[in-house]
Parts: sequence; structure tokens; C-alpha cells
Amino acid sequence: MSTDTAYNELLTHLKRVHYLGSVASLVGWDEQVNLPPDSADQRAEQNAVLAELSHEAATNSRIGTLLTELEQAAINLSTDQQVVVREARKEYDRATKLPADYVREKAIQGSVGYHAWAKARAASDFASYIPVLEKNIKLAKQEAGYLGWGDRSYDYMIDKHDPGMTAAVITKLFSELKTELVPLVRQITSSKVKPRSDKLTGFPVDGQFKFLREVTEKLGFNYRRGRIDVSLHPFCSGNGADIRMTTRFREDEPLGALFGSIHETGHGLYEQGLPLAHHATALGQAAGMGVHESQSRMWENQVGRSRAFWAFFEPRFREEFPAQTSDVTSDELYLAVNKVSPTLIRVEADEITYNLHIILRFEIEQKLFAGTLAVKDLPQAWNQSAEELLGLTPPDDRMGVLQDVHWSDGAFGYFPSYCLGNMIAAQLWYHALELRPDLTADFARGDFSWLLKWLQTNVHAQGKRHDALALTKRITGQELSPQPLLRYLRERYLPLYCA
Ligand code: ZN
Repeated sequence: MSTDTAYNELLTHLKRVHYLGSVASLVGWDEQVNLPPDSADQRAEQNAVLAELSHEAATNSRIGTLLTELEQAAINLSTDQQVVVREARKEYDRATKLPADYVREKAIQGSVGYHAWAKARAASDFASYIPVLEKNIKLAKQEAGYLGWGDRSYDYMIDKHDPGMTAAVITKLFSELKTELVPLVRQITSSKVKPRSDKLTGFPVDGQFKFLREVTEKLGFNYRRGRIDVSLHPFCSGNGADIRMTTRFREDEPLGALFGSIHETGHGLYEQGLPLAHHATALGQAAGMGVHESQSRMWENQVGRSRAFWAFFEPRFREEFPAQTSDVTSDELYLAVNKVSPTLIRVEADEITYNLHIILRFEIEQKLFAGTLAVKDLPQAWNQSAEELLGLTPPDDRMGVLQDVHWSDGAFGYFPSYCLGNMIAAQLWYHALELRPDLTADFARGDFSWLLKWLQTNVHAQGKRHDALALTKRITGQELSPQPLLRYLRERYLPLYCA
């Protein structure tokens, strides 16, 4: 068979895998947005059938044969085709190298783990959760072994979310960030300036929805190829031609839904910017979670929390909510947008202290996988770290080690992506500013098109060709560093809190 024929046949298989996955994702979106309360059982059956079909398609032995053939003829493949084959191999190995017994055990443990976590969290009872965590770590190590990572199991978990990233690289980045970030947070929190977000109350949901839809459309989200709805936990799913974002509303917290939506819009713009013709292959898929998060964070923070952004949108905000904002000055509004206040709960954290929550989790995961921290000693390690990093001690495990759902499902190595995303966002941002010094003047006129176009060309259009580190270096000419993030946080927050 010629290389071209083999490559085209591979594409046919990848398309099938991709479209089945996209149907599953759509059904998942529907489950969180539309599902009637008594329809859950039927949906579970539907999900199971879809999962079976997806697994069958992804493990079709013909894919393995074609990959081997193409790997042997790699010299005849273009650079792009080599990327497609390389990533398809990774996916195929992941789908086929895990024994059926293991996959079944992991699936059962996922649901057992979730319920055990929910119960333990409600009762703040860590002891009952210990066996679940121990088993999840054991399963993760086993999985790393099946896929040939040997004893580098934590690196395997990181690579699953952020291809190419390792614990050693993250350790270096995070320790440099931590050294400068902890004193910066202390400096800001000891300031007499305190945001008055309590003045923002009584914002009707209709008005909030209208306003955020206007904002996200102005940023460049294409509503002819996507939508935004309401769900309990906000997310962004789907791809290219059909992006589904969600948000949630609170009348006394209008900035929550707004910034949540801008964040999801950043994810959505990335997905909409991936080349449509290549959705089924690595050329049309996101580089990894860190890069994905860099897109959501840049639109949310560098753009959405800037003076220039509010110079344009504040008049519209006041027009939409005249009574609710009559008593709020521009400075008060801007300070509420840039609120800093350390909290024990990660999902409630502001954009500065959020990074410390991530560093805490990374350091603990690393020790758990290295075997230098026993699961039973986790609460103590967690509380000590919270005191050191955030200056706060959890009153109980519910507010500490039991707060996140991730570990209950064995999702280790996932947290670092959030902080890496912040670093990548800041580094790309300053580079964009060098290329276009008038960027924020554009924003003040309501024009966000230069930034979007630049990201589309340099990040989105690249698909999976480069991993996070290579992509950052390629765009900015510099290795990934925490310094741009630190610079950004100082420039944004010191004038507000410590002028
Ligand atoms: Zn995100």
C-alpha cells in the first residue's frame, strides 16, 4: 500500500473516533444543561453505549497496522503528517495498552471514589477517604507502568494533561514564582484598601445575560458556531463548528457570571480558532491544558480586568443597570473587578492567590507519588502548607484537603496546568504588547480584533504541532518563565492596593 493510501485510511479512522467523541461530548453538555430530573438512568445507558462505540473505534486493530506502516515510511511523510501519526500513536497506545480488567476497575473506582469523597467532604471525615486515595494513587502508578513510563508515574499524569511538561520543569517554575509571590500577596493584603463588592447587589439575571452576551460577542466569540447556556458548574465543550459554553448567575455577584463567561469565551475562542479542516487530527486539536488555560486566563485577566476594557464597557454596564450602579463609583467598580482576598477555597480565589492554591496541590501530589508523604498524613501537610502559602489554617478538612473533587477520580497532575496557563498567558501578553504597543488603546475603543487574530495565527492555528514549552519559546523567543506573570501582577495590583 502506498504511504498516501495508508495515511488517508488512517484519517478515515481518526474521523470516526473524533465524531463519536464529539457526539458523546454533546450528550454530556445536554446532561448538564437540559436533562429532565428523572431521565438520568436512560442517559446513563446512552452514555455507556456511546463509550463502547468510541472504545471500539479507537482500538480498531487496523489503526495499529496503519500506524506501524506509516512509522516505517516516515521519511515519505510531510512534517504535518508526522505530527498526526505521532499523536495518533499516543492515543492508540493509551486506548489499547490498558488491560480490560484495569479499565473496568478504574471505571468502577471512579464512581466509588466520587461518592466516598462527597460523603467524606460533607462530614469532614478524612479517615474514611484514605483507602480511596491510596487506591487511586496505586491505579495511577499501574497505568503509568502499562504505558511504559516505569517509575515516572507523576510525570505520566502531568503529560496526560500537558504533553511535554514534567515535574522537574514545574518544580523550577513554581519555586521561583512562590519565592516572589508570597511576599507580594502579604504586601497587598496588609493594605488598607479593601474592595466593596458588597455594593454590587440586585442584578437581574436577564440583564446579566444580555450584558455578558454582548461582551463575549465583542471579544470575538462566534455565536453562529456556538452558544452559551446555564449549568451548575460552568464549562466549555465542543469543538470548531459547535462550541457550547455555560455560566451560572447570582444576583448579588454580577461579576462572577461575567468573568466566568469571559474565561469560558477564552476557551471557546481557542476551539473556534483551531483549523476546521483538521478537527479529527492533532493539527486541529489543542496543544494541552496549560495552553488552553492560557487562552481563557488572558481574556479573563489581562484583557477583562484592565482599565481599557472597562473604559469601553463601564458605560454600557451602567446603562444596563442604572439603579444598581448609581451608588458605585468607577474606582469602586474597578477595585471590585480586581478584588484580592485570600481564601481557603481554591474555586473562590482571586487571580493572584489562585496560583498559591495550585502550588500547594502540586507540592503535595509530588510527595504522594514519590512516597515521601503518606496519605494518612495529608491533612497535616495540607494545613501546614496553607498556613505557609496563604497565611490561613483550615478549621476542618472540608475547608482543606477535602475541598476538591479531582483526586476522587484519580485526576492527579491536572492542577499544575492552571498556574502554567497563567504564566503562559502573561508571557504571551507582554510579547503581544511589544508587537502592538497600542493594544490597550484598541480595547478602550471596543476593538479586540488584533489580539484575537494574533492568537489565532500564533497559537490556535498551530494545533498540537508544539507542546506548551516549545510553543511559548517559538512565539516569544524566551523560555517559559514566571517573571512575566509576576510583572503583570505587580503592575496590575500594586498601584491599586499599595500606591
Ligand atoms: Zn479554564
